[in-house]
Amino acid sequence: MNRVYIKTYGCQMNERDSEAVGAMLRRRGYSLVNNESDADVVLLNTCSVRDQAEQKAIGKTGYLAKRKRTDPNFVLGIMGCMAQNRGEELADRLPDLDLLVGTQKFHAVPDHLDYILETQKGLGPQPTTIVDLDAEEGSQNTIREHLADKPQVSTFVSIMQGCNMNCAFCIVPKTRGPERARPIEAILDEIEELVDGGTKEVTLLGQIVNSYGRREIPIRGGKSPFVQLLERIQEIKGIERIRFTSPHPRGFRQDLVEAYRDLSKLCEYVHLPAQSGSNRMLKLMNRPYSRERYLEIVDNLKSVFPDMYFSTDIIVGFPGEKEEDFEETVDLFQTVAYDMAFIFKYSIRSGTPAATMKDQVPQKLKEERNQRLLGLLEKSSLARNKSLIGTNQEILIEGKAKRGNLYRGKTRGFRTCLVPSSERLVGELVSVRIDRATASSLYGDLVLGGVDEIGSDELLLPEEI
Ligand code: SAM
Repeated sequence: MNRVYIKTYGCQMNERDSEAVGAMLRRRGYSLVNNESDADVVLLNTCSVRDQAEQKAIGKTGYLAKRKRTDPNFVLGIMGCMAQNRGEELADRLPDLDLLVGTQKFHAVPDHLDYILETQKGLGPQPTTIVDLDAEEGSQNTIREHLADKPQVSTFVSIMQGCNMNCAFCIVPKTRGPERARPIEAILDEIEELVDGGTKEVTLLGQIVNSYGRREIPIRGGKSPFVQLLERIQEIKGIERIRFTSPHPRGFRQDLVEAYRDLSKLCEYVHLPAQSGSNRMLKLMNRPYSRERYLEIVDNLKSVFPDMYFSTDIIVGFPGEKEEDFEETVDLFQTVAYDMAFIFKYSIRSGTPAATMKDQVPQKLKEERNQRLLGLLEKSSLARNKSLIGTNQEILIEGKAKRGNLYRGKTRGFRTCLVPSSERLVGELVSVRIDRATASSLYGDLVLGGVDEIGSDELLLPEEI
C-alpha cells in the first residue's frame, strides 16, 4: 500500500520539487516506482504556465480516477502549480481526488498520505479531498532533500521560490507566491552533501534567479547576493561546474557579467529569456528592459567570453504582435544566433493582464511564427555544433545514452555530446575530440593528453587521464 509514482509536468523547478517530495516520502517508508500501474498512490506534479500543460494533467487525472472505481484504495493527488492556480475548483470538478497540495506545501505530502492510508484501514474518518493550498512562511527551505539511490553527476538546487515580476502573460507569481530566498549557508550545506554523493555540476534554480536574496542579503563589495552565492559555490571542493536558470535581463548587471570572467567553474552558457525582440511588445508584456539593453548584456558577456553560448525563451503571438514586431524578434534571433531556445505560442492565462488584451493573435499565425523561429534555431544550433568539429571539448560524462553503445555528457557550453566511453568515466570530466555534429548533438572520441584518440576498449582510469 505504499508504492508511489510521481509524474511531473513543466519546468526544472517542478522536477526538483518532485524529487524532494520523493525523497521525503522515501524517508517516511514509502517506495517510489517508475510507472503508474505499479503504484498504490499516484501524485501529479503540475504546471500552469500554458493551458496545454493544465489540460494534459486534467486529462490524466480523469483517466486515473477511473481506477478508483474498481480499486477504492487507490490514492490520487495533484500537487504544484495547477493545484495552486485552480484550487478548490479542481476538487469540485474531480471529486475522486484524494489530495490537492499547493506549491508551498510539498513538505506536507507525507503527513497527508499517512493520514489517507490510515483512514483506509478504518483508523479515523475517511476524508473527502484534502485541500492544502495555504501560503507558508519558510516553505522555500523545505525543498532540500535529494534521492540518493542514483549517483547524480549533475543536480538541480532550488535556491529560492516565488516571483515578484508582473509579466503581463505569466501566471507564476500567482502559483508560486512572492520571492523568498534560502540562506546562503543552507544552500552551501546542501551542495556539499551532494558532492559527497557524486555531484560535479550544480544548476541553481529560481524563477528570477539573479534576484536571489535581494531583500534578505546586503550587497557586498558591489556584488549582488546572487554573485556572492556563486563565489561561495566556486570555493566548494568537488564541484567542477556551476550553471543557473533563469535570470531576468533586468538585474543582469556587470558584477554578474564579471563573474563569468572570475569564476572558473561558472560555465560559459547563459539562458537569458528575451520573450520578444520588439520594444513595443516588451512594453506590452511589462518586461522592464529594451531590445537594446538585452543586446548590450549579450555584448558584455561576449566581451568576457567571445564564444559565449546563449539560449532564450520567446513568446510568439502575444496579443497585438504585428508582423513588424515579429520581424524584430526574427532579427534578434539572428543577431544573437541562439544555441538553444524555448519558443512558446502565447497561451491565455486567466487572471493575467494579457488575457483580456485586445488583438489576440490567431492560432495559425502563432504556429507559423513558431515554425519560422524553430527553423532559424535549427540552423544556428547546427552552425555552432559544426564549428566545434575538430576541437577538443571538455565533457562531463553523465551516463549511458538511451540508444546505442555510447555515453552522454555535456560540454561547458551545454551541448550534448555522445562518446564511446565506460561506466568508470561517469561523473568524470574528459576531453573529447569532436568529429561529427548534428543540430542537437556532438559526436567524438576520448582524447588522451589532448592529442591521442583512444577507443572504448582501451580506456584509462579517470586519474590516469
Ligand atoms: N524566469 C523566466 C523569466 O525571465 O521571466 C520565466 C520562467 S516561465 C515559468 C518560463 C517561460 O514560459 C517564460 O519565460 C515564457 O517564455 C513562457 N510563458 C510564460 N507564460 C506564458 C504564456 N502565458 N504563454 C506562453 N508562454 C508563456
